[in-house]
Amino acid sequence: MLKEKIQNVRDRMERAAARSGRNASGITLLAVTKKFPAALVREAWEAGLRDFGENYVQEFEEKYPLLKDLEGARFHLIGHLQSNKTNVESRVFDVIQTVDTPKLARRLDATGKPLDVMIEVKLSEEGSKAGAAPESLSELIASIRECGRLRLQGLMTMPPWSDDPEQSRPYFVRLRALAAAHGLEQLSMGMSHDLEVAIEEGATLVRVGTGLFGPRKKA
Ligand SMILES: *Cc1c(COP(=O)(O)O)cnc(C)c1O
Repeated sequence: MLKEKIQNVRDRMERAAARSGRNASGITLLAVTKKFPAALVREAWEAGLRDFGENYVQEFEEKYPLLKDLEGARFHLIGHLQSNKTNVESRVFDVIQTVDTPKLARRLDATGKPLDVMIEVKLSEEGSKAGAAPESLSELIASIRECGRLRLQGLMTMPPWSDDPEQSRPYFVRLRALAAAHGLEQLSMGMSHDLEVAIEEGATLVRVGTGLFGPRKKA
């Protein structure tokens, strides 16, 4: 049952927040719906979820017409941003979490739609293939701030995969330190298996797929 799964994830978030003296109401649960049909996104919205994450632009472009009536829904791109698709991306998404170059920022800005954006940071060789290097952040942040339609919210990262959630902790600590150094507030970090560790280290948004919807079909 989806409702029970949502409650289970929310309970995990509450406990992790309580352990670290935080209030879980300030932490967004982003439902990752890649590879699931639009009907499931609607079901999740009916169950009270409002933030949804998708990885593949073409896949979401097909689902979007079936979902654009969902009031209050916010669609986040959490997969690689493609410079030849920025028009589609800005049309169907409300938040782009994966900005990693000044060129992509300028192309999004040029589409004319106001967007919330986050910078994806690459903190390891084996983690997500995309992302900005920590050394390039100052320059990238300055470029984004020159884009009048983009509102920079914070940083996002994806540590290398490990069954042991503790292996993610150093990456989350590092992301928080980078955000603090650059005066950014939002931290998109933590997934189904390591959301507790992420919340202990300051996550303001966790991205959960499997924990809500079960395993995805292999591509
Ligand atoms: C798929 C994906 C998730 C969700 O992963 P789960 O392990 O299913 O919770 C989170 N973030 C990104 C960037 C993803 O690609």
